[in-house]
Order: sequence, then structure tokens, then C-alpha cells
Amino acid sequence: MAPLILDGIMKTTRELARSMSYHEFSHPANEVLAVVLAGILGGFAFGVLHFSFENVWFRLLSLLEARGAISRLAPSIAVTRVYPSKEDFFSVAIAPMPLAAVMYASRRFYYDHAHFSFDLAGGITFTWILMLVHDAYFWFVHSCMHYFKRAYRLLHQLHHSTSGDITVFSTAHGEILDVTVSITPFYLLVLLLLYLEGNWNPFHIILATFAVNNVNMMGHSGFRLPAFVYVPASLGVLLIPLAQRPIHHYIHHLDPRFNRSLYFTWCDRLAGTYRGTHPKCTSPNEP
Ligand SMILES: [Zn+2]
Ligand SMILES: [Zn+2]
Repeated sequence: MAPLILDGIMKTTRELARSMSYHEFSHPANEVLAVVLAGILGGFAFGVLHFSFENVWFRLLSLLEARGAISRLAPSIAVTRVYPSKEDFFSVAIAPMPLAAVMYASRRFYYDHAHFSFDLAGGITFTWILMLVHDAYFWFVHSCMHYFKRAYRLLHQLHHSTSGDITVFSTAHGEILDVTVSITPFYLLVLLLLYLEGNWNPFHIILATFAVNNVNMMGHSGFRLPAFVYVPASLGVLLIPLAQRPIHHYIHHLDPRFNRSLYFTWCDRLAGTYRGTHPKCTSPNEP
């Protein structure tokens, strides 16, 4: 029964994607309008997906905390960010709009060259490589925002405004431009590379989206998390030597001079900006 339902969903999705990809607008102005609308809709869809992830994470972590399975990294810091904000929704929805617009503008290519398969090994490899490269990109952009004081005030100060009072709802807390420069140019480059490669597997993108969002949210959870949470949620990325744990990004929020990477610690170790402990992080047993 389940394979039949799955098969039906796949066929319907394929037909829908095909009809959208092959639809052409006779007037160039209509095509431009369609691209803009697709960008806006795609961005809002990503915003809804991101906020759904945040809500699931928040409820899961609250449940684990209530059962005594996890504890706050800095128990002395009160937690007040227990709800999402609409400003953060706009930050996370607007940043991917150019990506959705580019994909729609090139819809024929992305449809014709999409080869969907449940290739788990390939998807995990793709995710790991994506995170390794994005980590270096993010470290550089993020460090610039901290180094140039004017850029910090304009773009990044808001993200740090609550110091250690963070939860998963702090993941996208920031200026629209902060979120945009941190992700959009990098993923435009990824789209370009997929275009040059000539084929892509949507399943790889689904896995990467899952892991990237989860690692970002775990980094802002404020909790010391056990391996049974962070290993599957990161698709094993956090098992790689020199990978981050939630404590590393939490320390960045307590002391922004340190830990400017996103997924790994090697950039910070090379630059001398790595720190693995903080006096306020008194919760024991860091894995
Ligand atoms: Zn942060
Ligand atoms: Zn920062």
C-alpha cells in the first residue's frame, strides 16, 4: 500500500514539475513577472519550511529537557526566546528568493537534467562536501562582519543582541542582509555548479537541506546534545574530526571573538579564533 501511495505522489509531482517546466510565456514581460513571483513564492515556502523545522526542534528539545535527557549549556542564563518572530521569518524567507527565481528562470534545464534516486551514500557525500565548502565561505563572511565595525552594526549586531539567551528560534534572528550574505551568494554558486555539471539529484538537495538546517538549529539550541540527537540530525557530519558541537556556536554568542565557523572548527583553529570552553558553560560531559 505504502509503495503505491509513494509511487502516486512521485508521478503527480513529476507531472506537475513537467507542466511547470515546459510552460512558456509568450511575452517577455510575463516571463519576467513569473520569475519574480516564483522567487517570492519559493522564498516564502522556504520560510515556512524553516519555521516548521524550528517548531519541531523546539518541542522535541523541550520534551527531552523535561525528561532530564538534556540540559542547557549555561544553566545560569535565563531563557526568554521561546517563540518565533515575524521579523525573523522575513529574514529567512527573503534570503533564498534569488535562488528560487534563478531556478524558475532555468526551470527547463533543472527539470530535464533532474535524475531522482534514493542514493543515500551519494546524498551524504554531497552534504558533507557542501558543508565543508560553505563552512569556509561562512567563516570568511562572518569574520568580516565582526572585523569591520560598521558592517557589524549594520548587518550582524541584531543576531548577537540576546547573547546566551538563545533557542532554536534564534537561528534566523538577524537582519535580512545578514542572512542573505551568509547563504545566498554561496548557493547561487552551487546552482551554477549543478548547471555546469549537467545533472543533479533532487534527493541530494533534500538531504543537504535537512542536515544544514538541523546543524544550524542545534548550534542555536543552547543545549548540550547527545550523539543520538546530533548524529542522525546532521547525517553524520558532526562525527567528522574537528566538527562543531552546539557548544561551539553557543560560545560564539557568549564571546563573539571566537568560533566563527558554522559546521566545523578547522577554520577557527587555523585562524586562532577557536575556543572549546567558556566559564558560563558549566553543564558537564561535553561529548
Ligand atoms: Zn548564531
Ligand atoms: Zn557572529
